[in-house]
Amino acid sequence: MDRDRLDQVIRNFFECDPRPIVQIIRELLASLQAEQSLPPGILMSRNYETAQENPEIHTLPGNLKDARDAIFPYFWGTDGWASKLHLENVKGPANYASLIGAIACLLKNPNLCVDTYSQRSNELELKAITALANLIFYHTESPWGVFTMGGTISNLYGGKIGIEKVAPGAMRQGLAGRPLAGIVSEAAHYSNATLAGWLGLGIDHLHAIPTDRNLSIRLDLLEARLEQLHASGRAVAFVIATFGSTDAFGIDDLAGIRHLLDDFSRRHGVPAPQLHVDAAVGWALCFLVEYDLESNPLKLTDEMRPCVAAAQRACQMFRFADSVTLDFHKLGWGHYPSSAFIVNRRDDLRFLARQPSDMPYFSEADYRRDPALFTLECSRPAIGPYSVMASLNGIGLIGYQMLVANAIELATKLKRRIEELEFCKVLNPETIGPSVCWWVLPRGRDAKAIFAALEAGTLDEELAHRTFGEVKRLFEKREAILDPARDAKLSFTTSMGYRPGGHDLPAWKAVFFNPRTDDAVIDQIIRSIEDVA
Ligand SMILES: *Cc1c(COP(=O)(O)O)cnc(C)c1O
Repeated sequence: MDRDRLDQVIRNFFECDPRPIVQIIRELLASLQAEQSLPPGILMSRNYETAQENPEIHTLPGNLKDARDAIFPYFWGTDGWASKLHLENVKGPANYASLIGAIACLLKNPNLCVDTYSQRSNELELKAITALANLIFYHTESPWGVFTMGGTISNLYGGKIGIEKVAPGAMRQGLAGRPLAGIVSEAAHYSNATLAGWLGLGIDHLHAIPTDRNLSIRLDLLEARLEQLHASGRAVAFVIATFGSTDAFGIDDLAGIRHLLDDFSRRHGVPAPQLHVDAAVGWALCFLVEYDLESNPLKLTDEMRPCVAAAQRACQMFRFADSVTLDFHKLGWGHYPSSAFIVNRRDDLRFLARQPSDMPYFSEADYRRDPALFTLECSRPAIGPYSVMASLNGIGLIGYQMLVANAIELATKLKRRIEELEFCKVLNPETIGPSVCWWVLPRGRDAKAIFAALEAGTLDEELAHRTFGEVKRLFEKREAILDPARDAKLSFTTSMGYRPGGHDLPAWKAVFFNPRTDDAVIDQIIRSIEDVA
């Protein structure tokens, strides 16, 4: 070995020299700030055409600036979603307290699989999970959980526990032809279909129950489906309820579902299906649980009071859940990946447990400290715990109350302004989150009457399809003429979750995720609607 050349590589890449590192971070921050003077989403166009043909890498060892140069165009060409005009979806700018946490995490690069690889970072995970569990469950007995790669994986953990409850030993023997099923609502996230497929249940055995107009699962239809599945010999492994649907923020009645499941279990002498709650976006309403509406310290508008009261009532229902998915990288404004899977009773994790003998190279693992004994993942990043604890303690409970209440307040305002236009119809007027879904029809059309007829089943099929086409056409018209420096970026969903008469309802969509979005953005949305209608 040419020791001198090796030493050069070690000096440049394995010794911590703060000067070049800090200098490059400054440069990256400067370009981030420069980006903020530009309209969103137009930084640099993609070059997929030759990305695959040109995967060359340097031959000779370089330095940290070579590392910078290798990624810089892609960094610059990526929108950090800092603009207040981004309203497309449940994606926001990450907060800077989370950045401090995430940088600290990257500097040590712990692996949360076992305690011996991550020491106090494992302790931080325990703390972060407990802090989040206390926010959602309140007086829970023995919450426990882990951070995962995302809401999809957190939901998968919930589904898997359900399968093990009704088909004991499936982890080892497989489903072996045992007929199982899972249940969600029609407004549920598609990740539930993903997990049904990946867990071997089969997407065809995931049943989607219609919702009411508030995007809440129909309990009567849920009960009927439970009975029907039981009668046909299928064991129901889980019901994955939605707390905050992705498009329209519908919330399922967790107390009602719990009652149905316990009753079903008692009457038929079968294990109650796992009640997993997908609160990937909706969990953040829990920040408002202790808000005092009487003294109203944050000076929330009168319009907001019923929303906060409804949020408080809804959050009380978390105690009926067996397990919960919570994405801190959504309404916690944390970095990816910061999703938590939390069980209400720690004992339920035994359904996922491996024996230490199943994992020879972690033979000393201890169930109390080593998540690898039950996690899907082996290596596991610690970004989640660092992001969560840095953010929760930096921003604080009241800071989060302001952020969440502000998002709801803006959504409520936009709903009111849109509903005032006779050619428009808000499709989720009663849901309490940051999301607004609506129709825009050509001027002169009575959108409310058309919607009412659709719900009543009296709307002619042809007129229904023409209406849906117009909603889409007007959205595209706005897209074509909008001014990217002034007009908010909205999105379009082909089905917002509520399906009256089995129709998928297309909708314009705005999600108030960015704390910098203000009333002027709303005024301009209304102007742009009036311009295209
Ligand atoms: C975003 C979302 C998911 C998926 O979470 P990821 O973190 O994107 O994997 C699941 N359920 C709901 C309701 C969501 O909004």
